[in-house]
Amino acid sequence: APTLDTAWTVRWIRRSAEVLAANRAALNTLDREIGDGDHGENMDRGFQAILPKLDALPDETTPGAVLKLVATTLISTVGGAAGPLYGTAFLKASGAVGDAEWVDAAALVSLLAAARDGIVLRGKADEGDKTMIDAWTPAVNAALSAQAAGTGVDVVLLAAADAAARGAQATEPLVARKGRASYLGERAIGHRDPGSQSTSLLLRAAFDVLA
Ligand code: ADP
Ligand code: MG
Ligand code: MG
Repeated sequence: APTLDTAWTVRWIRRSAEVLAANRAALNTLDREIGDGDHGENMDRGFQAILPKLDALPDETTPGAVLKLVATTLISTVGGAAGPLYGTAFLKASGAVGDAEWVDAAALVSLLAAARDGIVLRGKADEGDKTMIDAWTPAVNAALSAQAAGTGVDVVLLAAADAAARGAQATEPLVARKGRASYLGERAIGHRDPGSQSTSLLLRAAFDVLA
């Protein structure tokens, strides 16, 4: 089974930066439909700012330290709603894994749940409000079920990524109750929430870089 060590954490964040850059225009387009059109730009700017800092990390570091670096960089470089929300998510994820050298399946569930709880703490969204929480909460639930069934980290991550993708798609018919899209009322119907899509991309990247 793969090991979720520091090298995996760094690969996850590098792959996330690549995928967000590749999806910058698509995320902007989603946000143009029901927001202000900058979600791709915001996420790309934030993750590009992390890359040079990853290169400068000391050799002896931990998954939690990498996640904390992501958090502080997102908070300081990404304006708008998503910066503080994802920043808080990565900060809480970092806290959940502490200074462990690697993350086992139970710790992975804790990491994901802490990230989601951080976003809820900050943004107060419920499931069904058409936000990134609609990707995170199904991901956490699927990860927990997989882990409780005794599967390895690969199966837990795949379950989370698949559930996030379905959750993002399931935001399409919803009316938004949080964020800019909530100003649109029924006009938000038929459009996917951009933050749920970026969450789906981030969690897929975590699976895709398993060694
Ligand atoms: P802004 O709306 O400030 O331009 P972004 O476009 O980068 O910021 O991010 C928008 C995304 O943030 C939305 O698609 C949604 O997923 C998420 N979001 C907005 N408000 C909340 C909230 N209160 N709770 C959770 N997620 C939210
Ligand atoms: Mg926006
Ligand atoms: Mg904005």
